[in-house]
Amino acid sequence: MKKIFLAMSLFALIIVNPIYASSNFNVSINNSIFTVKSAGVQVNGEMLNTEFKPYIRNGRTFVPIREITEKLGADVNWDNKNKSITINNEGKVIKMQIDSSTVFVDGKKVNVGKDQAPKLTSYKAPRAETKTMVPLRFISETFGYDVDWNNDKVVATISTFKSANLKDEKKSNVVKVSTANDNSKNNNSNNGLFYQSNQEKEETKKLENNLDKGKKEEVYNSLSLNMEDEQEKRVIKDKIQLNGKLRIVIDPGHGGKDSGAVGADSKTFEKDLNLEVAERLFSVLQNKNYDVIMTRSRDEYIKLVDRASVSNDNNADLFLSIHFNSADNESASGIEVLYASEKNIKIKDTVQKHFAQCLQNALVKETGAKNRGIINRPAIAVTSKTKNVAALVELGFISNPNELDKIKDSDYIDLLVRGIANGIDNYVKNYTE
Ligand SMILES: [Zn+2]
Repeated sequence: MKKIFLAMSLFALIIVNPIYASSNFNVSINNSIFTVKSAGVQVNGEMLNTEFKPYIRNGRTFVPIREITEKLGADVNWDNKNKSITINNEGKVIKMQIDSSTVFVDGKKVNVGKDQAPKLTSYKAPRAETKTMVPLRFISETFGYDVDWNNDKVVATISTFKSANLKDEKKSNVVKVSTANDNSKNNNSNNGLFYQSNQEKEETKKLENNLDKGKKEEVYNSLSLNMEDEQEKRVIKDKIQLNGKLRIVIDPGHGGKDSGAVGADSKTFEKDLNLEVAERLFSVLQNKNYDVIMTRSRDEYIKLVDRASVSNDNNADLFLSIHFNSADNESASGIEVLYASEKNIKIKDTVQKHFAQCLQNALVKETGAKNRGIINRPAIAVTSKTKNVAALVELGFISNPNELDKIKDSDYIDLLVRGIANGIDNYVKNYTE
């Protein structure tokens, strides 16, 4: 049985790249007809399914703005009067105007060239409709995502799992310094460096591939979700309704064969720190009369789907995953909280960012650590596959020798635990009824 399963997973890995057939078609831009070539766009292993095809014109790939920003988890605002678009993602703001090669990134003027100016494009198929098209590579790379282009397959591949590396951290520093109206109190202009283990990356990719291949019912089953949990049209609530005690799932990240990040001292493992924080938090929260469930209480590996399933199965009100961070650049430091916006995740019907913000505020207040802000990252399995309000805390960089020294101090762990507990209290006070 195990062998069969292994053979099946190998097969699944081989057919990761879907076959995409490119074709030429006509569109109308500024009342002129152009022949363009259709292009496939893949985000985190999943083909972007758009009603109106992305296309290549003058060597540039254009995508319908709504579909791509939804997939990346970005916020978009359209100003009809000025024909301008504002895209907000990863703490960065891109402002573009139709037919203009001048673009503003965090208020800074950038010339993207005539070929990359956004366009209003009229399609004839599947029906006559005009779509706002934006240059794929420019948008993706500005948000710090890797873009690969496969010329044979005519497919652009985007990965939003940024490996935490020197380049990213440097880039974010440059942006900060060069921003015209740099507000030093606004600490959101980072790229959201966060460490993912190979185990996590592999599992997340497989999960998304299975969802893409129409195995949704099967995957949902393993997540303790129903197909009905996914709703296109939902009433999004600001607060959660409590029936009795608040139930919270605490998820110490990694474990067992997956050590998570390794500290600058080469002997501190993220998985052990996560469990230490989670266990202390468990007692604190129980004393506060919360109903607490742990996804693991010893050094073992729990699959990401099973972690999410614990939360869904128990109808928990909150889900909190505990992690420490790591980057190639050893000066990277600070705390950030990640979440998966309800705007991107159709199984969620409650605003997600409030919980992340409550945790972030309380953690920074308690520890004095650098504030890296909250980040919408809809591609994380545990926060996106839980139907309740969920967040993932990155409690500091163990790759930074100074920060690691602090983290190895038991008193500092208590500050982190108190910060999280205060954040939960604040959320309960303001966002439950
Ligand atoms: Zn981690």
